[in-house]
Amino acid sequence: APYPLQMEGEVISGFGRGSKELGIPTANLPVEEAQISWIANITSGVYFGYAALKLPANHPDIPSASSNSSSTTSQKYHIFPMVMSIGYNPFYKNSKRSAEVHILHKFAQDFYGAPMRLLLLGFVREEKNYAGVEALIEDINFDCEVARRSLDREAWTPREGVVGAGTGT
Ligand code: ADP
Ligand code: MG
Repeated sequence: APYPLQMEGEVISGFGRGSKELGIPTANLPVEEAQISWIANITSGVYFGYAALKLPANHPDIPSASSNSSSTTSQKYHIFPMVMSIGYNPFYKNSKRSAEVHILHKFAQDFYGAPMRLLLLGFVREEKNYAGVEALIEDINFDCEVARRSLDREAWTPREGVVGAGTGT
């Protein structure tokens, strides 16, 4: 399927394994195959892109948290780099397809229920099975690194409207 791919939904509870067992929390989105036409056919695996997360103005993880008291109840989307898995997580033998997003930011607070919009920009690797949880964790950490580097490439960097002359390739 052509990039970018998009999906959105509200963050739901998964199986509670992400942070508890692996040390890598993943925000799960509901996968309603009828509503997201591409998700049923896409290769199971790891993808990278951006997540726009709607957080309350007073959420501790908003980068430019303003002290303006008049806006403490308004909600805004904030954009974070992300790496995500789409698939069946063979290590855990899930029978349902899942979409789960690890945001490349250390959050001080959970955000269950928050509206989240995803922009998938590229593919990292296919889904694999693992003999042990250590190998799985190792690969996820490597996936995060691949995603970070891919998003750091100039072509993926969000711009403030004007595209400047590049400073080299
Ligand atoms: P679950 O199985 O319910 O998805 P996880 O252990 O995977 O539980 O934790 C996911 C939750 O952790 C997310 O829904 C979100 O509220 C929170 N969270 C905290 N930091 C992050 C992060 N960097 N990326 C994704 N989710 C995070
Ligand atoms: Mg999860």
